[in-house]
Amino acid sequence: MSKNKSSESVKVVVRCRPLNRREESNGPAGSIVKMDIRLGQVILRNPRATASEPQKTFTFDAVYDANSKQRDLYDESVRPLIDSVLAGFNGTIFAYGQTGTGKTYTMMGAWMDPEKRGVIPNAFDHIFTHISRSQSDRQYLVRASYLEIYLEEVRDLLDPNHGNARALELRENPDSGVYVRDLTSCVCKSIKEIEEVMNVGNQARAVGATDMNEHSSRSHALFLITVECSQPGPDGRKHIRVGRLNLVDLAGSERQAKTGVQGERLKEAAKINLSLSALGNVISALADGRSSHVPYRDSKLTRLLQDSLGGNAKTVMVATLGPSPQHYDETLTTLRYANRAKNIQNQPRVNEDPKDALLREFQLEIARLRAQLHHRKWRSKQKKEQVDGEDWEGDVDEETDGEEEKAVEEYVKLEEQRLEREKQDIREDQFMLADEKQRLLGEKERMMGDLRKEQEATEQLTAKYKAMESKLLVGGKNIMDHTNEQQKMLEMKRHEIAEQSSSEREIQQQMLVQDEETVELRETFTSLQQEVEAKTKKLKKYLKLYAKLQCIKAEIQDVNDEHVRSRQELEQTQNELTRELKFKYLIIENFIPPEEKNKIMSRLNFDTEEDQWKFQPLVPAESKSSQMKKRPASAVGYKRPISQYARVAIAMGPHSRYRAENIMFLELDMTPPNTASLDRSTDSEPNQSPSLDGSPTKEGGVRKSRSWCQTPKSITSSSSNVSLAACHTATPMTAQ
Ligand code: ADP
Ligand code: MG
Repeated sequence: MSKNKSSESVKVVVRCRPLNRREESNGPAGSIVKMDIRLGQVILRNPRATASEPQKTFTFDAVYDANSKQRDLYDESVRPLIDSVLAGFNGTIFAYGQTGTGKTYTMMGAWMDPEKRGVIPNAFDHIFTHISRSQSDRQYLVRASYLEIYLEEVRDLLDPNHGNARALELRENPDSGVYVRDLTSCVCKSIKEIEEVMNVGNQARAVGATDMNEHSSRSHALFLITVECSQPGPDGRKHIRVGRLNLVDLAGSERQAKTGVQGERLKEAAKINLSLSALGNVISALADGRSSHVPYRDSKLTRLLQDSLGGNAKTVMVATLGPSPQHYDETLTTLRYANRAKNIQNQPRVNEDPKDALLREFQLEIARLRAQLHHRKWRSKQKKEQVDGEDWEGDVDEETDGEEEKAVEEYVKLEEQRLEREKQDIREDQFMLADEKQRLLGEKERMMGDLRKEQEATEQLTAKYKAMESKLLVGGKNIMDHTNEQQKMLEMKRHEIAEQSSSEREIQQQMLVQDEETVELRETFTSLQQEVEAKTKKLKKYLKLYAKLQCIKAEIQDVNDEHVRSRQELEQTQNELTRELKFKYLIIENFIPPEEKNKIMSRLNFDTEEDQWKFQPLVPAESKSSQMKKRPASAVGYKRPISQYARVAIAMGPHSRYRAENIMFLELDMTPPNTASLDRSTDSEPNQSPSLDGSPTKEGGVRKSRSWCQTPKSITSSSSNVSLAACHTATPMTAQ
């Protein structure tokens, strides 16, 4: 990526935690990580290496050793970023490292202990203190959201129904970038409120931890703060700047092999590692600068961090390390990752007057409510003046809200008293008719009701207005700043020192680079002694270069090893997934009928937005209603669907051919007519054949019934069917 004027690189800092008790008891091996705070360097010792093997050195924007304080890290590396967010930039801080190396400690820390509060609580303090100290012509709106990515699903941690809630979808907006649809966002007016939001989310996460094994360390948590600030510009209009801050605590980056998981757990780990390897690929692609494609879409995490890596944001990455020799490989991987991330260039810019600024909507709504309220009060006040008999000329705006309210209250009270008095007069009037009295009293009652209703409406409007207004924080007004001047000075000095030390480190690093590059320029020797000196210097330089070469060679070897290892892991995952796939194929081939399979296949559709396969609904949603409404073709012109046979039957009228039910296909009967042989006089058992009795024309019925059963001879006489019985009797008759 080309370096342009407004681009800046991702700031990478490294922090190493102290050895824990278990690691200390393991032996005197000590820490494998050494840090040069002044130069911002990490020196890593390979516990398995020979003494001659050079140690690995990495340089970062800042390094924090085991003795570092939370406050140091915040003041030096995070404070400038939060200041940028308050000025309208997007900012991201993410902690990356192996499980147990202090990501959560760095991001959250121990809430109760002011010394151990992490980046997030310190950022809360910072934001609200800034608002309390800013000028009173600024208005702020602070919102917070909290989500986690677990098994490639985005879940809202502030949703009261978190456990059962469905996964949220990611959407992209050309103005604000990638965002989470339907994510809860809470307006926060103080540190206490935002801390409460954080606690609610943490509890939702903690519940998951008990339900699902190791959940908390297996999900990525993102706390999002949006700070909108409205400030009058030089043109006299109010301009809004929106800063979005992402505070990210990633899941552990350890290798699958280390976790010793198999089967389902391995798949779970594969999915978690998928996000992290996708993150790694994105970092590599960005750091490389040559690849045109950055695979942001490979995971939810990378899509959410799209702006933070190579986009419109300022980003700080805190890589956390453990000092134990046992985890040398992981530590080295983390350092490599971090080292690569340094090369990522972002293009941060101030988000000025974006279309989706909520503060603007709030301001407009407040202005509307205020105008409504003003109008109501003005009306009441005018009436009061009329009641008092004074000429009202004043301007509502000239009076304060308190005075106005008092005047309105007074007016309502006076009006009530007046109506009460009038009612009393009507009641006491001796000359008025009872009906008239009733009517007038009713009228007064109604007027009083109206007055009360109006007052209630005004109160409701006032409450709504106040609630709306209270959500906006006015610079230096809503939040009390309890720090005294001395403390403020102290803070300022501390910030200055932090800034100084970081610029000092930068200079030191530059000097180091220059030192290495400087070649002995003067080649003229006046004496042998000088020549020896110069050549010794040159030799030293070559020795240095040689050492560097060795380092790079070792590095190449390491990278190769690393590559082989990760390839093996990917192969293992691939094998696992192939096995699973074969198993599924086996089930499909053997247990699912091909036509069902084809039906399912034809309904499958790939959703590019969500990157997954989805079923299309059986009836397309848009055509559903029209399809349901359309009558089937066989019912056109009839009450209900009707068969072709029945239609012909209707057309033929009472024709005997169509009298029978439409339940069987009648074949043509080829038996020759036998009516001629029927002799009634020879009928010895007339009662045996009731169907033929006195009706020779019914023979057609006999024939028809024969054709029904096709093989009349095989049917026994015990059949209960009347027609069959008739058929049975007809046969012997033919024989006669
Ligand atoms: P991760 O979130 O990376 O899995 P944690 O933040 O939970 O790791 O840290 C693991 C343990 O190490 C915790 O008990 C934490 O208090 C401790 N720890 C981490 N970093 C530090 C530090 N810089 N100083 C003191 N203790 C630390
Ligand atoms: Mg953690």
